[in-house]
Amino acid sequence: MIQKSKQDNIDMDYQVQRDAICVCKSCQHDFARDCIKMSCTCCKKDEHAMILDGLYTVLSPRSKSESYYEEAYGKKTEDLIKTMQVKGILTDSKVEEAIRKTPRHLFVPSTFIKNAYENGSLPTLNGQTISQPSVVAKMTEWLDIKKGNKVLEIGCGSGWQSAILSFLVEDGKVFSIEKSSILVEFAKKNHVKVGIKNVEIIQGDGSLGLPEKSPFDRIIITAACPKVPKPIVDQLSMDGLIVAPVGKFIQSMVLLKKTKDGIKQLKREFGYLFVPLKGRYGFK
Ligand code: SAH
Repeated sequence: MIQKSKQDNIDMDYQVQRDAICVCKSCQHDFARDCIKMSCTCCKKDEHAMILDGLYTVLSPRSKSESYYEEAYGKKTEDLIKTMQVKGILTDSKVEEAIRKTPRHLFVPSTFIKNAYENGSLPTLNGQTISQPSVVAKMTEWLDIKKGNKVLEIGCGSGWQSAILSFLVEDGKVFSIEKSSILVEFAKKNHVKVGIKNVEIIQGDGSLGLPEKSPFDRIIITAACPKVPKPIVDQLSMDGLIVAPVGKFIQSMVLLKKTKDGIKQLKREFGYLFVPLKGRYGFK
């Protein structure tokens, strides 16, 4: 059964599934789990009933049905994790746990909440994107984060990647630079929602790195760069790792290590699509 709903002034098609979570917008009464009708069994106001296919409808904070959201998002996260694991991504249990603790629906603009647990990149504010979960998972695994690490992220976006990093460093610290002030505010709000305290988000040109806080044990660049900017390489500590997408139209993901004999490329994989890194050492 296809229903139409208007939310955020956008027409959305969605499919009512048999296991949908259904809550009446009017009285907040929850329907039977397998209900496929649009009428509330409690107040009978079918015109006010909403189908929550687990993803896109937002209830008021006083809703008694919030726990159903958590349940739905929890299940969606598990499905997303399985989708990635079937593809051979997300083999590190610590990264898996960090992704589990970082509900992606809290990091996407409301219009795209219904897509939050699909394995795809999504638009966020200011014409930018929130990265694809499997790409975030892979970059995070390549980084091999250790407890206590000091990590630098270039391109905070809506803050999902840095939130995942924050769980992995535990008592360490994450610095994330973002050029857009709108996104800096958005990411900060998103981190508050998840209770994150060990990430510092800074507005600025991340292509220069963050020399005043260097050296960093790990550096992650989440925008396509012409080559890994030299100032950023200089800010890496000995034995430190950098992961970055390099290239103009389609990028190669590279993993670099600083050794006493210089910078060594440990991994390189072609076929990624990132928004461009801007700024002094980015694309003009
Ligand atoms: N890490 C994000 C994805 C960010 S997309 C996530 O978790 O989903 C890339 C981001 O890099 C965009 O938000 C863009 O605004 C930012 N960016 C591009 N060039 C930049 C620069 N020179 N300095 C800082 N941020 C930059």
